[in-house]
Parts: sequence; C-alpha cells; structure tokens
Amino acid sequence: PTQTQYGLMSPDELVAERDRQTANYTQLKSQKLTLDLTRGKPSSAQLDLSQDLLSLPGTNFRAADGTDCRNYGGLTGLPELRAIFGELLGIPVQNLYAAGNASLELMHDTVVYSLFAGTVDSPAPWANEPGRKFLCPSPGYDRHFAITEAYGFEMIAIPMNPDGPDVHAIEELVANDPSIKGLWAVPNYSNPTGVVYSEAVVKALVSMPTAAPDFRLYWDNAYAVHPLVEEAAPNLDVLGMAAAAGNPNRPLVFASTSKITFAGAGVSFIGASEANLKWYVQHASKKTIGPDKVNQLRHAQFFQDADGVRAHMAKHRKIMAPKFALVRDILEDRLGASKTASWTDPKGGYFISLDVLDGTAGRVVALAKEAGIALTPAGSAFPYGKDPDDRNIRLAPSLPPLDEVASAMDGVATCVLLAATEKLIAG
Ligand code: PMP
Repeated sequence: PTQTQYGLMSPDELVAERDRQTANYTQLKSQKLTLDLTRGKPSSAQLDLSQDLLSLPGTNFRAADGTDCRNYGGLTGLPELRAIFGELLGIPVQNLYAAGNASLELMHDTVVYSLFAGTVDSPAPWANEPGRKFLCPSPGYDRHFAITEAYGFEMIAIPMNPDGPDVHAIEELVANDPSIKGLWAVPNYSNPTGVVYSEAVVKALVSMPTAAPDFRLYWDNAYAVHPLVEEAAPNLDVLGMAAAAGNPNRPLVFASTSKITFAGAGVSFIGASEANLKWYVQHASKKTIGPDKVNQLRHAQFFQDADGVRAHMAKHRKIMAPKFALVRDILEDRLGASKTASWTDPKGGYFISLDVLDGTAGRVVALAKEAGIALTPAGSAFPYGKDPDDRNIRLAPSLPPLDEVASAMDGVATCVLLAATEKLIAG
C-alpha cells in the first residue's frame, strides 16, 4: 500500500511513486486477467437460490381465484403476487399491478404513453413540447438517462446528497419551468451511490409546487428489499404521502424481482394512483392481452408470503455482503493513505460509487481495460454519459466470485494510483 498522501509529496517523490505504480501496472498486465465489474448482474450462486422456480407451477397452474394461468388475460397481474409485493413495498394491492419481466420496460412505456397521449393531468401530449426536460439526480442509473435521451428530453443533472437529491435545486427548477416533466429517482439504495432518500426529501418531492400540472416522479424502487445489512431501510409510502399533499398522480412506483429471483425472467410491478393505473392499463392493453401469469403464479408459489421474500433476500445478502466488504477493504488498504479517491459504503443495492482524482476516471477505466479488467465507461452514471469532473466510476462486484472481485479491485487500485500520479506530475 501507498503510505503517503499524494497531495503532500514533493515533485521527486511523486515521480518515484509514479515509477512504483508503473511497475505495479506492468506486473498487473502480465497476469493477463479477464475480469468484469461492469453491470449489476446477480452471480450464478444467487440465481441458484431460485432454481426451484423452474419446477413450478407444475400441474398446479390455477390462481387462487381459479384462473387458468396458461391462458390469455389478467392485464393487472395475479392478485396473490401483488399482495405479497404490496406488503413489501407498502402499497395497497389495488394500487399495485404485476406485469412482465422488466420494470425498465414499464418505465420506458409510461414515458412513451405520456409522449404520445399525455398523462391524466396533461393539457397536451409531452411530444408536443419540443423543450421538454427531465431531472436526473447524478450519479444515477445510465438506463434511466438513456430513455429520456432517446425520446428527446433535455436532461438536467441534479447533485446527489447523502439523504437524496438536492431538493432545493429541484424545487426552484420545477416551480418555474412547466417543460420539466419528471424526475428519475431510486429511493432506496440508489444506483450507484447507495443513497437512501430521507423522509424529509420524499415529503419535499411529493409536495413541492410544480409549474407542470403533469410532473411525474419516476420512483424506481429496484432495491426495495435488497439490504446488505440485517435491517432494511423502510419503504416509505410515497403514494400515500403524495395523495396527502394533494398530488396523488405524481409518483409512478416501479419494482421487480430481477435482483430477487431471475434477472431475465422475473416479474415487474407498477404502483400508482387509481387514475394513473387506469391510464396505464388503457395504453398497455393495446400492446398485450396480458402478462406471463404462469411466471407470476410460480413466484407466488415459491415465496408464499412477504416473509418468504425476506428470508430469500437474507440468502442473497450472505453471498453479496462479503463481496462488498472485500471491495471496501481493498480500496481502504490500497488507496486510503494516498487520499486521492473516495468511495461509498452502501447498506444495500448492487453498486459502489468510486470517485477518483478529478480528471482521471476515463484514464483509470482505459488502464483497467488494457489490463483485462472491464469497468463501466467513465461518465456513464451522468446524463449524456458526461461526468463534468471526470471522476466517477461505478463498481459492480455482484457477478464475479470472491477471488475475482479481489484481483479486479486490486488491479483497479493500481490503475487509480498510476492515473493520479500521472495527473499530479502533469499538473
Ligand atoms: N432500475 C435500477 C435502478 C436498476 O439498477 C436496474 C438494474 N440494474 C433496473 C431498474 C432494471 O430493472 P428490471 O430488470 O426490472 O428491468
């Protein structure tokens, strides 16, 4: 490990340190690694936890109300599965629908419906407004930003604080600009910072005056039941709070079992006011006769109840928590004394957000790539893929086994130190 703070080194010491890190890097490259920390995918050990799903529902293909799940229909999703996840998410069953395998698809589709047809509160379709905008707490989830970029929204980055996005900045923007149509939000264990929104932040977001009558909170609770510690952060009743504030249609809540059962074959959920759900079904019914109810049924059979999901998530935690602890230990050991980087210590979710010396994130990712370690492209957690400070790197340690997480992180640390010395010498 580096013993001295880089900021205190003399020019000669810096050159010596760069030479040390160059030697480390040459050694790293000689290992010819092929490691991948790019995306928050569950490991195969995690997928194995849900293997029993594949032998369900067997001949037991009828829902509680007698519905033959093999047939068409049931656009709102199976009530017994909605009840289980309604309890976990804190959403009444009549306000929560179950759909296909991807919550991202629900977010995409509701944006598109709003563009073509407008929301229940829209004076006109969003597409009629050429200057439409969306607020993007950053660093955030690249696939959120990809949706609003693809459909012509101007994206405005909002700084992230430890308790959620900067509400003062948001309040000021939305109060004056009717072309701001929404905000991307991951309330629990945000991607990639791990931030959990405080109750005060949620209250402010549901109650702030907005110039747009059809402003929407895209409330993506992807990590609702995904703590890395024993006690999960509560799922705040955003729909109830919004209704109490007089804005019942403002939040659209999304969730899925992608990081609970099978990432590619789970069930997604949309939670909203009665009016919003009616609007959703009106549009969704044009594209499908109904979701995969067999999959919804087997999920209900597999979990039985909300406690079944909680017990299942404890098994995930046993696999995930050691990987996060290892990343934390290696970063502290290799980078701590240099004081050139900082990183988050998430209590849940799938990511660690690493901030390296300003102006070096792109270089770190390139160095890592050359050494066989794939990292998410620098800047990808920002609107348009542009990190104004070129310092943020999203680390996703879930997929590789522990020993690979260790070698990848050790390699990344070498790249961080080499890039930092280069930058400091260049001035
Ligand atoms: N939202 C967030 C915040 C995510 O991190 C992810 C997966 N990385 C998703 C949504 C994707 O969810 P789904 O698989 O349900 O489409």
